[in-house]
Amino acid sequence: MTRYVYAFAEGGRDMADVLGGKGANLAEMTRLGLPVPPGFTVTTRACREYLATGAEPEGLGAQVAHALAELEHRIGRELGGRDNPLLLSVRSGSKFSMPGMMETILDIGLGDESVLGLAKAADSERFAWDSYRRLLQMYGRTVLGIAPGLFDRHEPTDDPAQLVEDFKQVIRDATGEEFPQDPGEQLYRAIRAVFRSWNSERARLYRSREHIPDDLGTAVNIQVMVFGNLGPTATSRGSGTGVAFTRDPATGARGVYGDYLPDAQGEDVVAGIRNAVPLAELDRLDPTSYRQLVDHMGTLEHQYRDLCDIEFTVERGTLWMLQTRVGKRTAEAAFRIAEALVDERMIGDDEALARVGGAQLARLMFPRFEAHADTRPLAHGVPASPGAAVGAIVFDSAEAVRRAATGDKVILVRRETTPDDLPGMVAAEAVLTSRGGKTSHAAVVARGMGKVCVCGAEELTVDVGARTLTAPDQAVLAEGTVISVDGTAGTVHLGALPLADSPVGRFLDTGERDGVLTDAVARTLEHADSVRRLGVRANADTPEDAARARRYGADGIGLCRTEHMFLGERRSLVEAMILAEDETGRCAALDALLPLQRDDFTAILAAMDGLPVTIRLIDPPLHEFLPDRTELAVRVATHPTTHDRRLLAAVERMHESNPMLGLRGVRLGLVVPGLVEMQVRAIAEAVVERLRVGGDPQAEIMVPLVGAVEELRIVRETAQRVLAEVSDASGLTVDCPIGTMIELPRAALTAGRIAEAADFFSFGTNDLTQTAWGLSRDDAEASFFPAYLAQGIFAASPFETLDRDGVGRLVRIAVEEGRATKPGLKTGVCGEHGGDPDSIHFFHDTGLDYVSCSPFRVPAARLEAGRAAL
Ligand code: PEP
Ligand code: MG
Repeated sequence: MTRYVYAFAEGGRDMADVLGGKGANLAEMTRLGLPVPPGFTVTTRACREYLATGAEPEGLGAQVAHALAELEHRIGRELGGRDNPLLLSVRSGSKFSMPGMMETILDIGLGDESVLGLAKAADSERFAWDSYRRLLQMYGRTVLGIAPGLFDRHEPTDDPAQLVEDFKQVIRDATGEEFPQDPGEQLYRAIRAVFRSWNSERARLYRSREHIPDDLGTAVNIQVMVFGNLGPTATSRGSGTGVAFTRDPATGARGVYGDYLPDAQGEDVVAGIRNAVPLAELDRLDPTSYRQLVDHMGTLEHQYRDLCDIEFTVERGTLWMLQTRVGKRTAEAAFRIAEALVDERMIGDDEALARVGGAQLARLMFPRFEAHADTRPLAHGVPASPGAAVGAIVFDSAEAVRRAATGDKVILVRRETTPDDLPGMVAAEAVLTSRGGKTSHAAVVARGMGKVCVCGAEELTVDVGARTLTAPDQAVLAEGTVISVDGTAGTVHLGALPLADSPVGRFLDTGERDGVLTDAVARTLEHADSVRRLGVRANADTPEDAARARRYGADGIGLCRTEHMFLGERRSLVEAMILAEDETGRCAALDALLPLQRDDFTAILAAMDGLPVTIRLIDPPLHEFLPDRTELAVRVATHPTTHDRRLLAAVERMHESNPMLGLRGVRLGLVVPGLVEMQVRAIAEAVVERLRVGGDPQAEIMVPLVGAVEELRIVRETAQRVLAEVSDASGLTVDCPIGTMIELPRAALTAGRIAEAADFFSFGTNDLTQTAWGLSRDDAEASFFPAYLAQGIFAASPFETLDRDGVGRLVRIAVEEGRATKPGLKTGVCGEHGGDPDSIHFFHDTGLDYVSCSPFRVPAARLEAGRAAL
């Protein structure tokens, strides 16, 4: 027969699947001999079967009745009995904590007769009637589905017995039935209500946000009630309830932390209804209970080998342990506790590494607003790049540069950013946009620079013409208004919030350890480096970024986007190349670009001396280098010049409605004569320069957006010819591996052939996601992602966390087929997913050699690569 009920003494903490987290931990405490009010747990399986069939599983009723009879026998009281009645709590508890999302019903067993027995036993009429009133309210709401407002409408009265009558009437009016006096009926219906609460709207929403599967079901814990609200002076010793932590969950410091509420029931603490006192106060109020509690806390921490949080109640001087679990903690506490437990020999280095995460490390790396600084935000957006910044609003790049040059701190506010905004983004403290998601231009560039960014704050109206920002409350902010941007939380605040510096950020930059936290982070990272198999490279296109990446522990550069080097002042040279009408003009333009590119590469190779640097040939759609069509048309109409007219004609000729699928990547190199030659020559000459000064340059050439091996073959031949020419001319051997990005489904599906012409693969998972799903990386996030996330079609944005089933399958196919052609083919990933903790585990499992991400994500990626290898 299926077993649906376990007494606490029969379970243990490894049974969370069956008993839920709360039930498993109650069982564990019971087994450890701690004072747990006795009870039993109905399994998650019973819930699943009830929800699937709508009927109670066969045998459940009998098993509950049996467990209840044993309980009554053991404590010598009867559920809802006349004298000293046994009362029960009925609580939900699923495998994963879902705080407050499901139902709890207390004081089951009370009725018109037992309330008198309770009053006598507790020596308090008021307490007994008040408990009955609580039961009617909870039962009415949860079991009978009565709107809570119907109870709230009743005047608070000094006479709780009167309130009980009023609440019974509410139940009668709302349902046409009487509140059941049969305690058994109360109990069974309460259990079913808890089962059903698994599927409440808020529980479903919570699960979809937290990625908790929908089909687990909840267990139900049925436990003898103990009371913390029997009055501090009712007998010789007091009552109360509290929460306790075995270490400080905010900082990780050792010691006993928590709150105590004299003369209160557990729900009062959780609901924050009354003012609590620090736990240490219990030592004064009731030293015996306090000492016992501290003792039990030690027992639990040893047993769980981790920070535990605890709920307890003191009933007239007797301590009861009501709940424990491994406690939630801040990022800072997570690192400190893990390393402290290593020092205390409770866990090993692997376990410590497993207990922290890249997202936590990322949170610690940047300045943040001080804890007390939580004002109501002006608006919410997407937390696109973490950290906190304060500055004056500016609406365009030029103004940002101008004001920053005078020492002002500014926040660049745009509807969305384009490559033209780059100087302003560099000058600003933070970037705020009203459109776009985590892979919008603003987000990607800001993350790359370690700049704070909130994007897609759609509640805000940005009017660049009027130079105003309008908040949802209709406040109109003019240019120069000071705001605070929290890139970790994704919020925008009016005025300057106080900033707290980041010691971890300073440590990563300088290597300087200044206390327990930086020590803990350093030790965890060292261990991660010693166990990880994946290399961690950086996406960097400037010598500064390369140097930072190196300080942050990168093993090289996995993606140097050369088009980023064509922006700014050099754009006119690119314009000239595009406008060139003949060979001579184009050659002149390319010749002018060559030395500039060579110097860029030389500096980057120097910063990364001895480590691989993957340089990608130019990729983006050409229109990004050309002026805006509308602006130019207006200029030509008002002040026609020959240059502008020619430019407009070129822009119109090259206009594409979907430039992401147009003339870009390798296609550009194949149609603009001389472009590939120029770039490869610049790389080769940079290598020569570095060799001449005794350096160890490790340049690799990478071709973007390849869909067919033929494309790669042509570019490869050209590149090899140029490498040979530079070798001959210099007398030095310039031998760079030539590889390809895999960014198109066709490339992944024909990877076996493409590998014939490639020395390495690097997965461009941004484009691969865009093309596999057929959605635009620029537009989709803002337009329909929120609806897709809400409906559970996406668990996370596929641009942020790799879609393992679809895009991941393409990656796997390409790795397998590429390596079938060329055993040991080196493979990496350089899309945004390379810095995403969840995706890093997939890349490890798929056998990639390295991930590459923006320099600021390198430390977190090292950590996750280590965790993936455990
Ligand atoms: C990619 O597509 O994943 C990639 C790294 O290239 P880019 O983002 O420059 O298109
Ligand atoms: Mg790409």
